[in-house]
Amino acid sequence: MAEFDVVIVGGGLVGGSLASALHDLPLRVALIESAPVRASNQPSPDERVIALSLGSRRIFGGLGVWPAIAPVAEPILSVHVSDRGHCGFSRLDRREEGVEAFGYVTPARAMDLALQESLEQAPNIQTLRPARLLDHRVGADGVELDIQVGGERRHVTTRLLVAADGGDSSVRERLGLQVDEHDYGQDAVITTVLADRPHPGRAFERFTDTGPLAMLPMPGGRYSVVWTCRPTETTGLLSLTEADFVARLQARFGWRLGRLSAPSRRQAHPLKLKLVRETIHERLVLIGNAAHTLHPVAGQGFNLGLRDVAALAEALGEAARHGRDAGASSTLADYARWRGRDQADTARLTDTLARLFVVPWRPVRIARNLGLLGLDLLPAARHRLARRFMGLDGSLPRLARGLPLETRHV
Ligand SMILES: Cc1cc2nc3c(=O)[nH]c(=O)nc-3n(C[C@H](O)[C@H](O)[C@H](O)COP(=O)(O)OP(=O)(O)OC[C@H]3O[C@@H](n4cnc5c(N)ncnc54)[C@H](O)[C@@H]3O)c2cc1C
Repeated sequence: MAEFDVVIVGGGLVGGSLASALHDLPLRVALIESAPVRASNQPSPDERVIALSLGSRRIFGGLGVWPAIAPVAEPILSVHVSDRGHCGFSRLDRREEGVEAFGYVTPARAMDLALQESLEQAPNIQTLRPARLLDHRVGADGVELDIQVGGERRHVTTRLLVAADGGDSSVRERLGLQVDEHDYGQDAVITTVLADRPHPGRAFERFTDTGPLAMLPMPGGRYSVVWTCRPTETTGLLSLTEADFVARLQARFGWRLGRLSAPSRRQAHPLKLKLVRETIHERLVLIGNAAHTLHPVAGQGFNLGLRDVAALAEALGEAARHGRDAGASSTLADYARWRGRDQADTARLTDTLARLFVVPWRPVRIARNLGLLGLDLLPAARHRLARRFMGLDGSLPRLARGLPLETRHV
């Protein structure tokens, strides 16, 4: 008999969220993460900030981790979208949608710590950390895993393996799964800056000829900057003095937030689209970036991964309630059918935005500016787009509707 019902490889934000979502279910779960545990007072190499959608906030509410995250999360009350140097712009306002906020700008580190804490309280979840999955073999009744835990090699068995091991997933590589890939020829330089005339709660997405520039509101008048640039500019942007970097950013973004200053450490991420053709295989599911790595325009990657988590937890909960094997092909097929549409639509939308707005050709420029102006004038179109970006479109899992998972046996 398998030692675990579910083994999750990768305890990043997506894998950690799935483990947390399974904490009340009658399942034996292991989470394997190669990075060591991070203490709350330890400086973090990861200063990323995530624009969490309203749907994701509801999911975190259902997992019970939101109260620990809320104090450092800044609500997004309105969004200003524009095409730099051209007339097209559009505004989205949360009052029009009748919601508390479109989403929340949240440090990745705060979410990571809240998830780690929630797992400490879960008796059915064993966290192996630092531990690395070295190899796995799939059989008819389960999956055998070879793991390096500290200086030891361990062998474990599970009914279902969940690959949440990120964009360079070694599980995906080992199985030689087919991936559709596109290199955007762009890097995202991320940092935070202080604005002397902040607009509380207003996020900016400005499309420029090298890619989108996002300024996301944070507490205390700071803004998280996601600056998409050509790789030839990246080293320059990273090595500029603070004063020269801010001057360059100010020239790029303008003066809507007054004078910008005090940039934090800068980091660069190369941008690629990676979509695995099939997210389920025998006794295996790929979720989060292992299944779909997206361009960060409109901040959809983690939000999409968290909807995978909510749907998979619900499917596994249903299987457990009916006494079914967690890795049964029918359970995985139900999950894949449910998630396919959202995964494909979200990937298509972000890919289109990322490609369309860098085309310098005049007819395309005019068309997209008309598109933005049209969006500004058409409430119905704005409403559809806002629902999608808030993660409230389509057939939503219980957690994304603010409901707990059903845990009773039938
Ligand atoms: C610049 C930028 C801005 C972004 N902004 C947003 C945003 O505003 N909103 C949003 O929704 N998304 C955003 N995203 C996307 C978001 O960051 C990712 O979608 C999300 O972090 C992916 O999480 P993950 O857990 O799937 O993968 P990862 O974070 O890559 O985690 C994978 C984990 O697996 C572990 N691992 C890998 N291999 C093994 C192994 N063999 N054994 C054990 N452990 C292993 C790794 O250590 C890691 O912790 C942004 C991305 C970028 C680049």
